[in-house]
Amino acid sequence: MYADLFLALLEHRNPRKHPLLSAMLYEFCPQAAFFWRSGLDPHEFHDPVWMAMQDYTFGGSLVDQLGMYGLDDFSETARQYITDIQDFRATNLVRAPETSALFPGGRPTAEEKRNFTQAVEKHFGEWDNLYAYIRTWAFLIGDWRLRSGVTNDRNYALRKTHLAFVLPELGEPVYWQAWAWWVKIEHNTNIHLGLLTPDGLRDPFRPWLTRMSSLEGISAWPSTPILHRLNYHTGEVSDPENLLTDGQARSMLLKLATIAESGPYPPLNLLRHPAACQVCGFRKFCYNDERPTDLALRGLEDVPTWQNDAR
Ligand code: SF4
Repeated sequence: MYADLFLALLEHRNPRKHPLLSAMLYEFCPQAAFFWRSGLDPHEFHDPVWMAMQDYTFGGSLVDQLGMYGLDDFSETARQYITDIQDFRATNLVRAPETSALFPGGRPTAEEKRNFTQAVEKHFGEWDNLYAYIRTWAFLIGDWRLRSGVTNDRNYALRKTHLAFVLPELGEPVYWQAWAWWVKIEHNTNIHLGLLTPDGLRDPFRPWLTRMSSLEGISAWPSTPILHRLNYHTGEVSDPENLLTDGQARSMLLKLATIAESGPYPPLNLLRHPAACQVCGFRKFCYNDERPTDLALRGLEDVPTWQNDAR
């Protein structure tokens, strides 16, 4: 869900403490900015949607890919899961009804748990991620493409696209990865760039930075990319929200970059939005058996006491 952000942290050309990346990470969670700027790297994180898109572009089938993960014998169950979703969608005419609690599928039997849990945990982290991977492959990728206007009669390719985010006041470019459908229309190429966004969450900076980005290694886009917000859960597609004006976005990123240098670094997601912690690469530093660690509060140590505050 935030795979692009954590991959940017791991990208060796993005220096540690890069001001723009620090600002973006601080906006995600100040505590994460504290960890990264202190020298810690995000650990292995499992993003089934990103993983499915990546594997999909290799060109094999879903069954082939499950085989690569040691799940050959799970392929029949995967097929049944896909059929169950199709049937459920046919009788429940809302977007992605299979995400509701009423959908009976998407749970392993005791025997499947016995046989496959080791491979599932190794490659996907947990069972829910395996089902999300299958659902993304079989449904979401196609839903997003069609709803982005890339129809089957077009000559298109889904590609991981490497961008350079540039805000000159905040130093060198930040190298960033995104997914895009490259569509060939006669002598032109249209690029439909999809920003994966969790359901109901704001995304104040990525669309703005993407609009100002260049293609890595190439000075300009072959055509102005058409941006889409891809709902990570439902498969819906919409225009990215224009929350901030250019001036506001720029000014806020500059301020966030300054705050990210000195803190404070409260673990805001731990306190208010624990779902984000589930997919955070720094999770193991913040939680021990679902309880906050002392380390999770370390970023608060430098908070001023405000003892001279007159109030
Ligand atoms: S685990 Fe949660 S609180 Fe800790 S850094 Fe990640 S998002 Fe922030």
